[in-house]
Amino acid sequence: MISVEDALSLILSQIREMGSERVDITSSLGRVIAEDIYARRNNPPWDNSAMDGYALLYADIKGATRDSPAILNVIEDLPAGYTAKNTVNRGIAIRIMTGAPIPMGADTVVMVEDTEKDGENVKILRGTPLGENIRRAGEDIKTGELVVPKGTVIRPAEVGIMATCGRAFISVYQRPRVAVVSTGDELVDVDEEITEGKIVTSNSYTLSAMAADCGADAFQLGIARDTREALKEKLRQALYADVIITSGGVSVGDFDFVKDVLKELGSEMKFWKVAMKPGKPLAFGTIGGKPAFGLPGNPVSCMVCFEQFVRPSILKMMGHNRIYRPVINATLKEDIKKKTGRKHFMRSFVRLEEGQYTVTTAGDQGSGILKSMVAANALLIFPEELSLLKAGDKVKVQLIDRTFDYSEAPGY
Ligand code: AMP
Ligand code: MG
Repeated sequence: MISVEDALSLILSQIREMGSERVDITSSLGRVIAEDIYARRNNPPWDNSAMDGYALLYADIKGATRDSPAILNVIEDLPAGYTAKNTVNRGIAIRIMTGAPIPMGADTVVMVEDTEKDGENVKILRGTPLGENIRRAGEDIKTGELVVPKGTVIRPAEVGIMATCGRAFISVYQRPRVAVVSTGDELVDVDEEITEGKIVTSNSYTLSAMAADCGADAFQLGIARDTREALKEKLRQALYADVIITSGGVSVGDFDFVKDVLKELGSEMKFWKVAMKPGKPLAFGTIGGKPAFGLPGNPVSCMVCFEQFVRPSILKMMGHNRIYRPVINATLKEDIKKKTGRKHFMRSFVRLEEGQYTVTTAGDQGSGILKSMVAANALLIFPEELSLLKAGDKVKVQLIDRTFDYSEAPGY
């Protein structure tokens, strides 16, 4: 049986990046940028005033105090958005607003709070240091500087800096279309009656939600009945997508046809079964270069397999430069046991306690117990070669939901 590590690197070796598309920056939030954004000009473009005050020459106000103020003649009023008509010389000041370009000749701005207007003149009451209150051209961004590198996930700050650089349209990675097919005669959809022996196809919903959570365009193709023909029909439709995900039908049951039908449709099957729990019967292949994931039907198995293999694959397709969940070291708060041989991903809950991460398991670990997935914010990684972890041990935990990042109070 292939290890989790080998399965993941085999899968990722088959994944190609999507092409790009142009979007306007207002709809780029959360997308991955597919080009390097360089500044085409300085920001600020010119030296400008950081304060409302007076632009003047330092030599005129050096050593000024409230008792012996410097007195200058105010020759112009300069609002933000305009350039001064006059040059500042000895004995002269220009009234200046925040953001207005520094007038020719001026080398210092004295803030209005340190002055007193006196008719045509202004009294400077404090010897402000040379160059004070001037924001220098290019102090934020220099012409030619790389401001947003390719592969960055766009946040509001990136949207703002791209606007600053005059970029209204940018190139982002296309979102892969992910087709989700659930298999099983026992399945009904959420709005259908549950008669004897039937269950709702929750996997269709968790899987499309997980794909959407990665930023992909998820589409549910519905339920395929457990016949080769029905399955083939659904999977044929799925071939139009960029990623194919099936749930169920990959075990050794009499009606587990997913692998066979994928093969019949031209899939090159790369492996079946991974040394993990839950999620062992995972099957992976490619059809015409597109990845096809045959996930197990048990609700938690399919989620854990998605987390370990499908999520990094979708993020890689979308050009992300970071495709893995954060893994932290946390102190285990209970003893846990398992058989050796497989890597276990245990639904757990991580807390930040006095600056230290602690972890507890999040209830029953049966692969059909979706409730403990709801209770979890992390997957504890229990290595294949170990059979016992003890309270107090440092363990690796994969953070699948950062709820502990949120506090009940603002904390200041
Ligand atoms: P299978 O992998 O097809 O043998 O299914 C394993 C278990 O998962 C069975 O108990 C199924 O009823 C359950 N299961 C399969 N598909 C789904 C689904 N789409 N939603 C919820 N449970 C499912
Ligand atoms: Mg089945």
